[in-house]
Amino acid sequence: MAGKQFLCGVCGQPEKMCRCVKYCALCHGDYGVRLTEDGQFYCTDCREACDYKTQDA
Ligand SMILES: [Zn+2]
Ligand SMILES: [Zn+2]
Repeated sequence: MAGKQFLCGVCGQPEKMCRCVKYCALCHGDYGVRLTEDGQFYCTDCREACDYKTQDA
């Protein structure tokens, strides 16, 4: 199964191609920020707290 590609909500590019300034949509931190399915970026803590998955998780 080729899962659906997660795309940055700002530039529409996959995470690898995205050159946007990345910070967590919840706390605005920048530690371990990754793209999730909703097109937003979240830090490690917020992803764990909200159970958001990254593309490769
Ligand atoms: Zn982007
Ligand atoms: Zn956060």
